[in-house]
Amino acid sequence: MISINENYLKLQSSYLFSEIAKRVSAFQDANPDVKVIKLGIGDVTRALPQSCIKAFHSAIDEMAGNSTFKGYGPEQGYPFLREKIAEHDFQSRAAEITPDEIFVSDGAKCDSGNIQEIFSSDITIAVPDPVYPVYVDTNVMAGRTGKFSNGRYEKIVYLESSEENGFIPDLPKEPVDLIYLCFPNNPTGTTITKSLLKTWVEFARENKALILYDAAYEAFIRDDSLPVSIYEIEGSREVAIEFRSFSKTAGFTGTRCAYTVVPESCIGYDSNGGKHSLHSLWNRRHTTKFNGVSYPVQRAAEAIYSEKGKIEVKNLNDYYLKNAGLIRQEIDKLGYKHVGGENSPYIWVKCNMDSWKFFDLLLKKAGVVCTPGAGFGKCGQGFIRLSAFNNFENVQKAMIRIGKILNR
Ligand code: PLP
Repeated sequence: MISINENYLKLQSSYLFSEIAKRVSAFQDANPDVKVIKLGIGDVTRALPQSCIKAFHSAIDEMAGNSTFKGYGPEQGYPFLREKIAEHDFQSRAAEITPDEIFVSDGAKCDSGNIQEIFSSDITIAVPDPVYPVYVDTNVMAGRTGKFSNGRYEKIVYLESSEENGFIPDLPKEPVDLIYLCFPNNPTGTTITKSLLKTWVEFARENKALILYDAAYEAFIRDDSLPVSIYEIEGSREVAIEFRSFSKTAGFTGTRCAYTVVPESCIGYDSNGGKHSLHSLWNRRHTTKFNGVSYPVQRAAEAIYSEKGKIEVKNLNDYYLKNAGLIRQEIDKLGYKHVGGENSPYIWVKCNMDSWKFFDLLLKKAGVVCTPGAGFGKCGQGFIRLSAFNNFENVQKAMIRIGKILNR
């Protein structure tokens, strides 16, 4: 008899985006003349930078010649890309990361989901609330949680992000083993200071815990005092793994390239307390189960580190940040509390009513789609997420429509 992994039965259906799609399509059927504007999605809308396109094309041309053709590449990524990443994303910020510590992959979603495989199934995990759902669901699949009741899984330590703590969770009151942090945050758009991040690193060191730091949105940070990488914090190399992605940084959501940093000195423990290199474990996992990112995609990713590529990437993200600035300004005028949108493409708005009710109000009265905060966790109730991933003209139109219905 083929038995199933019953942990899958504990999973809640991915209700959020299917429910949004259902409500939007019902509205659109009833109101075919309304041009709905989507400020709900977390997907980029603008073309790849020209430098990436050029590098992509020329790498494809290489695949057309027998002498330049590439077959299987190194699973961890080609040295040309790993070297550029180490130099530009880390060493330039005094974060001592070497090319060997970088694992190129096809997504931060896959990596942040797969990484838990190298840890024991009986560790205690701590996840923020609200949260990017992948961290939770992959641990449910692995059997680290109990059942779902009252909007939460048993055995998970939830790190609440609320108005009271400025949407930066407090340190856990109990010992935990694996901590998920994400800054700039999805969904709240908040960022963390170096001094606060240092308290997390110290907590991890004191508790022999590990931080999984998701920095998928780091390219939106404009405040130079904020940490872009956790490795800017002293002592983090032993207790942190970092996820990065070209998805939001350079519009690669449909092209697929990301990477994970596992420092050589990052340590995990066996049941006798013996120390083991997490770098070796992840290397084993990655090379066994992953085939590497295609050569042309890695060449396209490498192009963001050229002088021209850097300018194009900055302009690309400045475009979305301008949208975010407009959203913040208009929401502010309407008297609604909000955070995010300064160093992030997401704005988290307190809606003073049930998230889904507010969603329906914006959809039905303004023809604008947002994401109800309740879909990201219990603490998201009463909030919505507005996304700056759209074109400026649409954002302008959306904010005029929202202004008309919410003006008090
Ligand atoms: N991490 C966070 C916090 C995200 O919001 C997303 C995508 O929305 C990802 C990771 C996924 O990145 P990728 O496209 O590289 O899989």
